[in-house]
Amino acid sequence: MSDSYDVVVIGGGPGGYAAAIKATHLGQKVACIDKYINKNGKPALGGTCANVGCIPSKALLDSTWKFHEAQGELSVHGIDVGNVSMDVAQMIKRKDDIVEKQTGGVAMLLKANGVTWLQGTGKLVAGKKVEFVPHDGDAQVLEAQNVILATGSSPIELPMAKLQEDIIVDNSGALEFTEVPKRLGVIGAGIIGLELGSVWSRLGSDVVVLEAMDAFLPMVDKQVGKEALKNLKKQGLDIRLSARLTGTTVKDGIVSVEYTDADGEQTMEVDKLIVAVGRRPITEDLFSVDSGVNLDERGFIFVNQSCATDVPGVYAIGDIVRGPALAHKATEEGVMVAELISGHHAEINYDCIPSVIYTHPEVSWVGLSEEQVKAQGDEYKTGMFAFVANGRAVAANETTGFVKVVSDVATDRVLGVHIVGPQASEIIMQAVIALEFGASTEDLQLMVFAHPGLSEVLHEAMLDVDGKAIHSVKRKRRK
Ligand code: FAD
Ligand code: NAD
Repeated sequence: MSDSYDVVVIGGGPGGYAAAIKATHLGQKVACIDKYINKNGKPALGGTCANVGCIPSKALLDSTWKFHEAQGELSVHGIDVGNVSMDVAQMIKRKDDIVEKQTGGVAMLLKANGVTWLQGTGKLVAGKKVEFVPHDGDAQVLEAQNVILATGSSPIELPMAKLQEDIIVDNSGALEFTEVPKRLGVIGAGIIGLELGSVWSRLGSDVVVLEAMDAFLPMVDKQVGKEALKNLKKQGLDIRLSARLTGTTVKDGIVSVEYTDADGEQTMEVDKLIVAVGRRPITEDLFSVDSGVNLDERGFIFVNQSCATDVPGVYAIGDIVRGPALAHKATEEGVMVAELISGHHAEINYDCIPSVIYTHPEVSWVGLSEEQVKAQGDEYKTGMFAFVANGRAVAANETTGFVKVVSDVATDRVLGVHIVGPQASEIIMQAVIALEFGASTEDLQLMVFAHPGLSEVLHEAMLDVDGKAIHSVKRKRRK
């Protein structure tokens, strides 16, 4: 006998669990299969994001930034906290408690919405059926009207830097160090490398980040990337570009790292090494050859704009399909697919997905960068405004960075917004709203922004597009 559902979701991360909840809101009978087992040996929902990604990394970023401030920055406010020290075990415990709360919250939400959580492994087979192998029990076949594949991604492993206990680690291991490594190496100056490198650097590690490419954060607007690099270096991150890892050896608990750079072959010794060189979609054993599902040329599951695979009634969302590997992108795809399955119209504006790097200063962007607009050959204008000229930023002693706007000359439409600075992760949402509604810079210029507020920097950057920024000495000639 087989159980039957309207929708079976394979994967309970931010893509899968959101799809499952939304589908029940729309009247579907839903099962969500997830195989994740946490470090305590217990099944846990929430996927990479809640267990070893977005949430725990931000917990450590917040703890360590407070430590950094207490160490020196608070003195400018007249606050003397004396000698400060970090209890790493307590910091990790707090992070673990947060993860437990978040993953438990997802389980509670599934239950409250009537989603059946099946703990084990799912696989799509021919005829849109799903083979389910529970962690404890016999395999069964589930019948489904619709199947949503949402199995996420895993870290890319390098043959020359094989993971070793707690010495050579990936993003999961980098959240678990029990003490601050004296010397920490990071392979890859991508988002994970910079966020987790920042965590341990703030606690006193000497951090060296090796990046194979000669460009720093190539997906980020050039001026923003330059400002971010300057500040991260100032904080003590030794970021070496054009530095490609070639080998590692572990002896007596010390990692010898070999790499090549412009000067030839180099070696450095570190106490811990984080490998963060990208992620790959989890597609092995997810579908049988005769299921009808295909991969694209980059190994992601092939889908159209609506996340439909080549099999009618089978969808794929999140990190296993094209596009940025971001939790909010996965969630919105899950919601869209649940709507489509339930007979509603739904689509995603992929041009308006924001990205954030939670370093200090934060980096965020949405839409096109100046370099992308230039490459398209379109006529464009830019506006920029620095946080140093903003009263709220000065009051908060957070004056690093700027907001940059790129707009179209012919239509004045905002094409992209790029931020490096305080609260960049929050301010960017105003730009997302502007882009989503097709706003012009004039629309934003005419809006009233509360004073004093960091968002005034966005307002002034919009004004600067036409040389109208009020708190600027370098005025462009008004057209
Ligand atoms: P996942 O979250 O990976 O969930 C997939 C689930 O499916 C997992 O539980 C997995 O165990 C399960 N699964 C896999 N195969 C099977 C199977 N065959 N059967 C049953 N279950 C299966 N993104 C952001 O937007 N903001 C951030 O700040 C951010 N920070 C990050 C920090 C780190 C350190 C990392 C590693 C990632 C971060 N990300 C961030 C990326 C984000 O975590 C992912 O984009 C997101 O989790 C993808 O969601 P998903 O639902 O596609 O997959
Ligand atoms: P990434 O693609 O962002 O960066 C990996 C970097 O490693 C690249 O710059 C690459 O050039 C470099 N690299 C590759 N091989 C190398 C080698 N042999 N030697 C030296 N450098 C090498 O990947 P990631 O940092 O692992 O993150 C994966 C994804 O997870 C991100 O792209 C992002 O989508 C997601 N993520 C998002 C957030 C966030 O939203 N704040 C945080 C963390 C992760």
